[in-house]
Amino acid sequence: MSKFVYLFKEGNASMRNLLGGKGANLAEMTGLGLPVPRGFTVTTEACIQYYNDGQTISKEIEDQIYEALAKTEEIVGKRFGDPSNPFLVSVRSGARASMPGMMDTILNLGLSDTVVEGLAKLTSNERFAYDSYRRFIQMFSDVVMEVEKTKFDAILDAVKEENGAKLDTDLTADNLKEVVKRYKVLYKEEKGFDFPQDPRIQLMEAVKAVFRSWDNPRAIVYRRLNDIPGDWGTAVNIQEMVYGNMGDDSGTGVAFTRNPSTGEKKLYGEFLMNAQGEDVVAGIRTPNHIDKMNEINPAAYQQFVQIADTLEKHYKDMQDLEFTIEKGKLFILQTRNGKRTANAALNVAVDLVAEGMATKEEAILKVDPKQLDSLLHPSFDGEALKKASPIAKGLPASPGAATGKVFFKAEDAVKARNSGEKKVVLVRLETSAEDIEGMDAAEGILTGRGGMTSHAAVVARGMGTCCVAGCNEIKINEDEKYFIDRNGKKYVEGDWISLDGSTGNVYSGQIPTVDAEMTGNFATFMGWADEIRTLKVRANADSPRDARQALAFGAEGIGLCRTEHMFFEADRILAFRKMIVSETVEQRKKALEGILPMQRNDFEGLFTEMKGHPVTIRLLDPPLHEFLPQDEADINALAKELKISSDELKTIIKSLHELNPMMGHRGCRLAVSYPEIAEMQTRAIIEAAINVNKKGMTVVPEIMIPLVCEIKEVKFVKDIIVRTADAIIAEAGVKLDYMVGTMIEIPRAALLADEIATEAEFFSFGTNDLTQMTYGLSRDDAGRILDDYYRVKIFESDPTAKIDQAGVGKLMKIAVEGGKATRPNIKLGICGEHGGDPTSVEFCHEIGLNYVSCSPFRVPIARLAAAQAVIKSK
Ligand code: PEP
Ligand code: MG
Repeated sequence: MSKFVYLFKEGNASMRNLLGGKGANLAEMTGLGLPVPRGFTVTTEACIQYYNDGQTISKEIEDQIYEALAKTEEIVGKRFGDPSNPFLVSVRSGARASMPGMMDTILNLGLSDTVVEGLAKLTSNERFAYDSYRRFIQMFSDVVMEVEKTKFDAILDAVKEENGAKLDTDLTADNLKEVVKRYKVLYKEEKGFDFPQDPRIQLMEAVKAVFRSWDNPRAIVYRRLNDIPGDWGTAVNIQEMVYGNMGDDSGTGVAFTRNPSTGEKKLYGEFLMNAQGEDVVAGIRTPNHIDKMNEINPAAYQQFVQIADTLEKHYKDMQDLEFTIEKGKLFILQTRNGKRTANAALNVAVDLVAEGMATKEEAILKVDPKQLDSLLHPSFDGEALKKASPIAKGLPASPGAATGKVFFKAEDAVKARNSGEKKVVLVRLETSAEDIEGMDAAEGILTGRGGMTSHAAVVARGMGTCCVAGCNEIKINEDEKYFIDRNGKKYVEGDWISLDGSTGNVYSGQIPTVDAEMTGNFATFMGWADEIRTLKVRANADSPRDARQALAFGAEGIGLCRTEHMFFEADRILAFRKMIVSETVEQRKKALEGILPMQRNDFEGLFTEMKGHPVTIRLLDPPLHEFLPQDEADINALAKELKISSDELKTIIKSLHELNPMMGHRGCRLAVSYPEIAEMQTRAIIEAAINVNKKGMTVVPEIMIPLVCEIKEVKFVKDIIVRTADAIIAEAGVKLDYMVGTMIEIPRAALLADEIATEAEFFSFGTNDLTQMTYGLSRDDAGRILDDYYRVKIFESDPTAKIDQAGVGKLMKIAVEGGKATRPNIKLGICGEHGGDPTSVEFCHEIGLNYVSCSPFRVPIARLAAAQAVIKSK
């Protein structure tokens, strides 16, 4: 028989998976002898069982709940439903990971028409008893029976008005009796039966409601955003009620052992006398600073300070506590590691080490790598954000916050910027290469289509620009320059909107932003991470500017230079387009001649900027649809340049049109069709390396062949590279080492990695394509499919956002093994966007990669995640 229910005294903090965070900590505090109201926890396994049993509570679980209830009644010396000595409980959810406010809570359970009378007598406080009862009916009806809360609020307001009461506290016991009476009538009208008077039925219904709340829409979204698996389930804590609203010698509050915004080591919190927990949170009355408690009840204050200190030392981390004082006596209702800003997280971690409370390893684990984002990008002013409500939601494609006037065409965004408009937001259905200047001019980018690895997402992350992608809740009309939000409101050019690239939320109007700040402790902390990690961290950078940024964030090389990205700028895209629309070898060679000096110059810039750190340059891999001109104006300009008619050019463009461009004429396939492209690029790389080495550097270029699926393909392109490179080196009469490797981004290449490694000196996993090709799910269209998949629970989260370890990861492991079998010292890296995702970094460490490579702004995140991977694997 499984044990589904634990008394608090039977558990401890290590049982978090089973008892949930709240339950495990209540048990731990009980064990420490702290004043915790007594109770028991129904486990997360019971929740899973509830779902497996078709959302019913089995007899076995029910029996165990009643058994624990009977034991608790014994311990407490009160009985469920006994008017002369009633046992009243709170019923609260508590998952393994904290999910604040996502699931449900019911207070004062156990009250009924007879028990409320008993409570009134027992406390000599009829008003208190009926106030508790009316709160219970409302909460139970709302949370358990799904009767709208507002209907109850309307009754409360009506009774207040009839009796000239301004505040709830102005209502008399008789007024509250009237409220209860009307609440019960409403309940019966809504449900068709009376409000349950048997506390055992109330309890079982409440437990079910908490289990149900695990799957409410907001909990599902929260889990998706916080990587919490749906099969964890929630525990339910059933705990003796204590009352902060029993008079002026009672109260309730919350406190952090350190300041959650700054990390300062000072008790930080607030409380209200004569109130229940929800009053503090609801903000109707202004709570007092925790220090004031010392004046009101010095003994309870001193005890609280001492307990807070004990708990912080016990958990070796900043604690977030909830407490209640009932008739002068202190109770601790909850403790947990406190949520904190990134700034505070770093300060607390560094302070804990200085105070001897944590080792560097323990401190490293206390900061969530993703949180570092907010230190590297601007964010919204917290107060202003609270007042704003989203008008749409898309994918959180590139973090940060942006506020600006909307423009629907890249050139309009650029024009606005050039004419002095400081804040511009570019809104596009999707972006392509020709939008790049507009993207660069914009504070933020919003697209209607595309997934986490769409053009907009990848480019914005590289630039460190905030981006919300795949926002299909808005309807964009680029030609007529407007969009409609999910509420039907229209926004035209010049209207203000705000974007949160970390949540995907879109807001109307301006929300002030605050700049990122890096504290002194940032460097100290990252230094510790660097001492610990074994995985190297490189950056994906295509320009000297990105390379500089990457180095500043601690990158140890460039893992991917996408050479096609070097042609995004207006003065270059024309040269590039001339090359791709060439119809003869001669035309193409001529176009390439124009490109060669630009490329060589670019590479010299990159090598110089990287000061001898390794640089991997990838041969051209342009999905053609991202580069072909689409606008009439662009087509005309190119036609003029090519000295052909626009119609002729349109025919060429049409002939290049591919039905499935992501699987089309890209990657090494271009080099197979047009070897002269690979030749030109090799020349540019090798000549650039020779040039900078003449100035005293020792660059060993790493030349990477993209999108391979077959060893003969690798050999074909490698031969071009080697032939070209060796000739140039011999001609220059210098010595230059270089490496030739491939990307692994097609499942077939992963499966045949042992063969591929006979030619490739290194592998770099292109997990953007590898994920796309493994799932058969387009990078550009995933966004619009996902919502349906979330709704029916086929996917819990975006499968492109982190490495799918089961499928894509399996292919990666096969490739690592195959590669090493052929070439034991093969260098292994990853340069897909996952190289900057913490759980993916951990996976890369586990399977034995040498480095991860990610957008410059993610480098610190990857450094920390790599250190955490080492500590976790010990
Ligand atoms: C990849 O596919 O993971 C990759 C890095 O290449 P790109 O995103 O340029 O296709
Ligand atoms: Mg790719």
